[in-house]
Amino acid sequence: MGEHPVVQAGDPVLRRRASEVPAQEITADATGELIQRMWATLAEVPGVGLAAPQIGESRRVIVVQDLAKYHETISVDRMIERERTTIEPYVLINPEISPVGDAMRTFFEGCLSIKGYVAAVDRHHEVDLSFVDPAGQVHCRRIRGWHARILQHEVDHLDGCLYVDRMDPRTFCAQEEFPMYGAMSVDEAIRKLAGPATE
Ligand code: ZN
Repeated sequence: MGEHPVVQAGDPVLRRRASEVPAQEITADATGELIQRMWATLAEVPGVGLAAPQIGESRRVIVVQDLAKYHETISVDRMIERERTTIEPYVLINPEISPVGDAMRTFFEGCLSIKGYVAAVDRHHEVDLSFVDPAGQVHCRRIRGWHARILQHEVDHLDGCLYVDRMDPRTFCAQEEFPMYGAMSVDEAIRKLAGPATE
């Protein structure tokens, strides 16, 4: 275990609704220190997103990044299928998301707080996002694809929800047991894991 452990499922902090950061605390030193600890943790793991409850702080703060170096071992087909692109590191304070339309996408995802496992999870294809940055500026954006998936996963953490609450339970698997989940198409991986539909 590294210097910055990630809280694992079973700790009640992951099941609480995290509290908003009050306006007057957004630019405060304590918030800056929390954000620094979150980046240090994410760099150590590494990962594409982290919510403050995952380091034991029940605050509505998220950090997100999807660096080009994470994509080196992923084929172009899988990148396109997932609509995954580079995301420059950024901080979201008091983020809010709402789905755009009814379109959903199903892919495998994991969680730093449920180490070693993944499962197929339905997520909205596109979301409207608003958040405050560490300087106190409000931002509104429309986000789609893999970035929208990361945001839905991380905002769920702020509401005490984990991906296992939303997954297709027949696709839940240990990465060690089924390392190919990321290399094949999502339909193929689900068929391999869950077998033919029983209906
Ligand atoms: Zn997670």
